Amino acid sequence: MSPMQHTDVLIIGAGPSGSSAAALLRQKGYQVTIIEKQHFPRFSIGESLLPQCMVFLEEAGLLDTVREHVGEFAFQFKNGAAFLRGKQRSFYDFTQKFSQGPGTTWQVRRAYFDHLLAQQAEKYGAEIHFGHEVIDVDVASDQPILTVKDEQQNVYQIQAKFLLDASGFGRILPKFLDLESPSNFPVRRAVFTHIEDGILDAPDFDREKILITVHAKDHRAWYWLIPFADGRSSFGVVAEQEFFEQYGFDGSVDYDVESLLKRILADDESLSQVLRNAKFDIPVRTLVGYSANVKHLADRNYALLGNAGEFLDPVFSSGVTIALKSSSLAIPLVDQVLQGQTVNWMEQYEKPLRKGIQVFRAYVESWYSGEFQDVVFSTQQDENIRRMVSSLLAGYAWDTTNPIHKNAKKRLSTLAEYCRDPQQTETLSNGV
Ligand SMILES: Cc1cc2nc3c(=O)[nH]c(=O)nc-3n(C[C@H](O)[C@H](O)[C@H](O)COP(=O)(O)OP(=O)(O)OC[C@H]3O[C@@H](n4cnc5c(N)ncnc54)[C@H](O)[C@@H]3O)c2cc1C
Repeated sequence: MSPMQHTDVLIIGAGPSGSSAAALLRQKGYQVTIIEKQHFPRFSIGESLLPQCMVFLEEAGLLDTVREHVGEFAFQFKNGAAFLRGKQRSFYDFTQKFSQGPGTTWQVRRAYFDHLLAQQAEKYGAEIHFGHEVIDVDVASDQPILTVKDEQQNVYQIQAKFLLDASGFGRILPKFLDLESPSNFPVRRAVFTHIEDGILDAPDFDREKILITVHAKDHRAWYWLIPFADGRSSFGVVAEQEFFEQYGFDGSVDYDVESLLKRILADDESLSQVLRNAKFDIPVRTLVGYSANVKHLADRNYALLGNAGEFLDPVFSSGVTIALKSSSLAIPLVDQVLQGQTVNWMEQYEKPLRKGIQVFRAYVESWYSGEFQDVVFSTQQDENIRRMVSSLLAGYAWDTTNPIHKNAKKRLSTLAEYCRDPQQTETLSNGV
């Protein structure tokens, strides 16, 4: 094995959390090395950003590069979310929201978006070892050590003053340090692809919004349609495994998932109409059991960022926002550690990060119970409440001034009751 290499901060993974962490650390002058298993651009699911992201991208000095390449990579301007359930339609305009901050963003091909962020982090001076895989972790001494294998099967070790796990679904530290803790969500599966959407004359369809469609027969199943600016879209369906079993799909790898996705699309008349000219021209993929949690998010010499820590559910497109927020919260603390100061990771990182995640969680649970769906499709919504909901959908889950974030679960139940029985208007619009 070659001699031990050294750096200030080691990061596993160059997804949004890893690259934004690297960029922020470079602003503070630290030496940063990212170990990234794949070569970029590489496919990743998760194309719908939330306006809250823009704040974190800007803070990390990564917004300009995305903005400059919007046309080249057909990133689609996005200003809201649209919902469809049978004949019911609803949409939220993110510029009409309670919280301060940007109200628009983009729908991005993650292969290019992630590549842009990683390239910018490199321009700031981060070193990225693409095609290198972390195969072992040792955090026993003050300075963590990663064992890494390159594509020629050479194995080397690298030591840092601090370690950040941004490995997403790779979940390197949870696996090696036995931090895994089960998610309390049921196991769900996503079946998805990118399509030539062929949408030319769908009058109610708005390319500037993600479209979420509730399945006609099972409200716990839903489709996403995330348009790009060049006539292509990301399209997928999410449901519990038993839903797919009704279509004869037991999860086996040789199952024809393209025909499965088309059959599920055919169940919805309105969505089928929108996508009647669509061409499925690249392989359909599937992911199962992606929701995950951990026992703790940090210790004296390491922290978990983004999906390596917790992943909830794709329904409100919160993944990249949480990933970027985690870097934004963690890096000032890493700076303090490297300056010899004491950091209380539970109080200063985990609790503040989880506060917003808990708000998203309440909405996700309420979506699948059907309560939040009733809120979304209600025609009785008070304008103030609509703005509060719009803020959450735009990603502002950490805005503690938003009245519906406090005891979010309980308030969502009350809100659902209100939407079903608008006579409670006064109580709710006066502070929920
Ligand atoms: C079905 C589905 C739909 C989604 N839709 C959305 C959406 O619309 N909007 C949204 O914001 N989010 C969405 N998400 C979530 C989003 O994709 C993730 O939250 C986001 O990518 C997390 O970023 P990250 O930086 O934490 O990890 P990732 O983007 O996963 O990056 C992790 C990186 O670590 C690397 N890595 C892994 N293991 C190793 C190793 N051993 N050594 C070295 N490198 C390693 C990987 O190659 C990868 O590049 C969706 C998720 C799913 C499952």
